[in-house]
Amino acid sequence: MRVKRAKQYQKNMNVYVNNFKFREPFQVLINSDIIKTSLEAKLPLVEQLTKAVGPVKMLISNCSLQDLRNEDGSMIGAVVLARKFERRRCSHTTPVPGIQCIEEIIGTENINNYCVAVQDQTLRSKLRKIHGIPLFHINRSTLILEPISTSTKDKVKSIEQNKLSISKDEIQRLNSVSMKNEPAEQKNLIFKKFKKPKGPNPLSVKKSKSAKQTSLYNQSGNDAKESTTANNHKNPTLPSVSTLDAEKKKRKRKRSHSKSNNL
Ligand SMILES: [Zn+2]
Repeated sequence: MRVKRAKQYQKNMNVYVNNFKFREPFQVLINSDIIKTSLEAKLPLVEQLTKAVGPVKMLISNCSLQDLRNEDGSMIGAVVLARKFERRRCSHTTPVPGIQCIEEIIGTENINNYCVAVQDQTLRSKLRKIHGIPLFHINRSTLILEPISTSTKDKVKSIEQNKLSISKDEIQRLNSVSMKNEPAEQKNLIFKKFKKPKGPNPLSVKKSKSAKQTSLYNQSGNDAKESTTANNHKNPTLPSVSTLDAEKKKRKRKRSHSKSNNL
């Protein structure tokens, strides 16, 4: 099997896996006619199916097996091959043609997720109208997986639309949940407001002029100098360093004057 074709088949099978819950090993319901064709074409059917789509589990109904038994002795090889496959039970106590049996097993929905391997064109055209059925047949000694049918494509589209609509429901649910949570959030905001200290940060606020001045005179030594130089840059209305020094000198003079008087 060509690599390109195998890749295409894998891609097609992924559509069945992702949308119709097909799982490995893929169950292949096989009809007597394709067994005959594979033997005539000397095509190893199971091997080819495995190469095409991966692990497979072959199933044959009693009715299809009976079709092969009804053939002349030349089909003994086909019977031997078919008997290796797992028997798919059907409701027919008296065997019916394998094609009819498969059609009834599939029903209208293919609930068991079967792939169908059949040569009969009438059955294939009927099965194409039911979504989610991978169809195999042999053409010129090559195993073919049919392209995805229109009914399957339509079903895939509706499945995708349903997925989108589910997400809309989820959005609505999320909205309703957020609405419910909103009062709690507001409470938290109120709580935060109460916790927040009133007014601006006192460390970032300039002291009032009078407060600054009193603190200035209460401080002594270098601390006072540093604070005044710092404040002078910020506020030109405060007394400058030179005026403060002058006042201190005056005080010293007064003290020294008073000391001299006492002596
Ligand atoms: Zn049957």
